[in-house]
Amino acid sequence: SEQPTTDSHVAILAFPFGSHSPVLLDVTRRLASASPTTLFSFLNTAKSNSSLFLSDLPSNIRVHEVADGVSEGYVLSGRPHEAFELFIVAAPENFRKAVASAESDVGKKVTCLLTDAFFWFASDMAAEMKATWVAFWAAGPNSMTAHLYTDRIRDAIGVNEVDGCMEETLGFIPGMEKYRVKDTPDGVVVGNLDSAFSDTLHRMGLALPRADAVFVTSFEELDPTLTNNLKSEFKRFFSIGPLALLSSTSQTETPVQDPYNSLAWIKKQGTASVAYISFGTVMTPPPGELVAIAEGLESSNVPFVWSLKEKNMVQLPKGFLERTREQGIVVPWVPQVELLKHESTGVYVTHCGWNSMLESVSGGVPMICRPCIGDNGLNGRAVEVIWEIGMMIIGGVFTRDGFVKCLDQVLVQDDGKKMKSNVEKLREQAHQAVSAKGSSVENFKGLLDVVVSTLN
Ligand code: UDP
Repeated sequence: SEQPTTDSHVAILAFPFGSHSPVLLDVTRRLASASPTTLFSFLNTAKSNSSLFLSDLPSNIRVHEVADGVSEGYVLSGRPHEAFELFIVAAPENFRKAVASAESDVGKKVTCLLTDAFFWFASDMAAEMKATWVAFWAAGPNSMTAHLYTDRIRDAIGVNEVDGCMEETLGFIPGMEKYRVKDTPDGVVVGNLDSAFSDTLHRMGLALPRADAVFVTSFEELDPTLTNNLKSEFKRFFSIGPLALLSSTSQTETPVQDPYNSLAWIKKQGTASVAYISFGTVMTPPPGELVAIAEGLESSNVPFVWSLKEKNMVQLPKGFLERTREQGIVVPWVPQVELLKHESTGVYVTHCGWNSMLESVSGGVPMICRPCIGDNGLNGRAVEVIWEIGMMIIGGVFTRDGFVKCLDQVLVQDDGKKMKSNVEKLREQAHQAVSAKGSSVENFKGLLDVVVSTLN
């Protein structure tokens, strides 16, 4: 394999919404400390950069800004996906400019484009630049597969009258036997197939086989069949996680930030007693469901930590916070990885975002699933019927009684004990993957080789 040389200059093209950019920065920190002679230019919007923890970066990472596609004086209407659409339409042009400016800044041509997988146009960009293209898929092999085979799924299921096919499975794709049409992300065969978002994902699926490597933050043992299939479809496919279990140094990891002292609170609770609730950085269930969650918590008396965006707190029932002052805390942000690793946490009530799901596995915590968008449906399905480490919320949405029943099932009943022992086994496998000679450690080396090589 190629030795890192001072000639290699890697441009990182980050997707500035949701949880993509912090994860990509985390991976960049790890690559940069493993290859101190390679220069990494991290390109991201000013807004997304301002939400990242950028102090204490290794000296071979330089942070740059890319334009967000919103022209001067334009007022966002607040339409869903508007910021995304403006960004993605302008992204090919804006990233070309940002890469050129990073090159002239340091006087070195970019040898590798390491991009969010959404950026299908990086295939052409890399070819023009005679650089390698490495793509980061910010979710799991299940959703990757759904986007890779979108045309095949559309051919098999049809695109117009899918309502009658919701229960059909995707058994014609290796590893997808237990997933149903209704679990697939919007834009594959269900929902609006013509939106800018669906179009981006469709083009991505067509472009990724041309990438020199595709990587995810999963570990191979979690989805062996899907992983092997993706290895056969892509030039190289690396699973390098879970990041939550990788060893860290101050240079490779953001320090734990706990502005609302949720860790101090959870440390005072009994083993596996606490329900942790969060729906990620993007989604929140509708107000009626937030009320049902609150009522369910009150009537079950289960201790809880609830990460809830500040703007949603007014939707809680009147007097809820006062009445539950002893029972739990509602705060706008928690150090989730640490909470899920703490022995007091007994169940995670989640939207099934890929990072959150993997962090729950890394902590050995069973889940109650309320999928919201994108890959959430596939992940929730896997949690319930493939890995058997949790359950779907009864009725598909939160009701007080359904939620109380789920809490009892996971925290008290035999079903829950089975989920707990299954998730402990997965956690053990995840630990193996990130220890010496483990699959993720070997995959990281493979990824590093592709990223720092100057073969092109
Ligand atoms: N997260 C956190 N504290 C919170 C809420 C979320 O640290 O209070 C982190 C969580 O650990 C995870 C990420 O935000 O790494 C959410 O990513 P995920 O892929 O689960 O969902 P998304 O936000 O993309 O929907």
